[in-house]
Amino acid sequence: MAPQESAPIPTATIPAIAGLPVAVDTRTRLSGNLYSVGAAQLDKAAKAMNLPSDVYTILSQPKNEIIVNFPVRMDDGRYLLFKGYRVQHNNILGPYKGGIRYHEDVTLDELKGLAAAMTWKSALHDIPFGGGKGGIKFNPRMHSKGELERITRRYTHALGSNIGPEFDVPAPDVGTNAQTMVWIMDTYMNVVGFSEKNAVRRVVTGKTITCGGSYGRETATGQGLVHCVTEWATDRKFNLNGSTFTVQGFGNVGSWAAKILAKMGATLVGVGDYKGYLANPEGMNPHKLSEHVTHTGSVEGYRGARKITREEFFGLECDIFIPAALELEVGVDEARALKCKVVVEGANGPTYPEAEAILAERGIDILPDILVNSGGVAVSYYEWLQNKRSERWDLEEVEVRLEKRMKRTYGMVRDLADERKVDYRTAAYIIGLERIARAYAERGIFP
Ligand code: GLU
Repeated sequence: MAPQESAPIPTATIPAIAGLPVAVDTRTRLSGNLYSVGAAQLDKAAKAMNLPSDVYTILSQPKNEIIVNFPVRMDDGRYLLFKGYRVQHNNILGPYKGGIRYHEDVTLDELKGLAAAMTWKSALHDIPFGGGKGGIKFNPRMHSKGELERITRRYTHALGSNIGPEFDVPAPDVGTNAQTMVWIMDTYMNVVGFSEKNAVRRVVTGKTITCGGSYGRETATGQGLVHCVTEWATDRKFNLNGSTFTVQGFGNVGSWAAKILAKMGATLVGVGDYKGYLANPEGMNPHKLSEHVTHTGSVEGYRGARKITREEFFGLECDIFIPAALELEVGVDEARALKCKVVVEGANGPTYPEAEAILAERGIDILPDILVNSGGVAVSYYEWLQNKRSERWDLEEVEVRLEKRMKRTYGMVRDLADERKVDYRTAAYIIGLERIARAYAERGIFP
């Protein structure tokens, strides 16, 4: 089906759900939560490429929104009730795929936005996965290891067959890690029965190496981000050696991006997380900072830097700014304050559309999340393949594949942005959406 033949996309549509009114206030969609920000981005790309309106309608809401409430016994004998989610956005190109987030601010709308982002990421890379995201609304820092294990296992059990190695494959995200994935894997394995056990190992990715994880998965998102920065620097004839950067959020993505960039001669001059912000114009050692975070849980108290405010952090002089914390941290004020050449979105959805417009006006480049942080799901796909084939790839093989994939996709995004005169985010959406639209055109809708 030629996209041009389809009906134009109506303005300000939240697609029709049978029986529900469709009236929408455009303003609330421009600066609301992660879901509405994602919807505005989809809208923009859909119009730029003339996406068939029926495909747009399908993609505007997730296919499934699963909510489970489950009790867990705490160490002191009390029972607490937890609320867990799994949002399955789209699976036209393959099994739902995406992380599990443990955070006290988890909401259904946030996960809907994050699940959709996974659909675009996989499609952008031509990885045969769809998009999903899950989470539990609680603060993992307030619980012992034993409680975390029981919470994870009960959540997995509550989800039941809503996840599966060929159906929906979770991975780590904010507040979860390889250990969490191994608990999910083990719980799932024990539920399917002993003859199936080893065949379902790939029900999750991001596992420990011993339990079937892939070499290079832990560093993959940070490494993929650096491949994008490298390509950007080449295009802009900018020398990374001797450059400066700041990072917001020093978890898996931020810390690995910082360590790898430092190896290339770039200097970390500012950092921050949920506890506070630090600066040192002479540079901070990301390895030492990472050790500090592992021991204390945050960057706060690190000796090799001066304490600053959040406002001061966003005004720091630097070449590269990497938001790698939670979503929607870069608003209008931050966009006006930033003094960098490029914003590299390590986090999912860090930038409000209004902020994006200001950055563009100020000549600051934005490398979009669905491209920049997609190294994680790319190596998750390699892990899933290794498990499926009972193989173990060495680190070099994973790294070579990741570099090739990231750089090829980056080049496609850049070229399409140039050709169609759109920003990189819209170009990245268009590449993914064209693949999805083609699949719908060929398969049609059942029945
Ligand atoms: N949570 C990561 C993301 O947002 C990884 C997803 C995955 O590996 O499936 O991309």
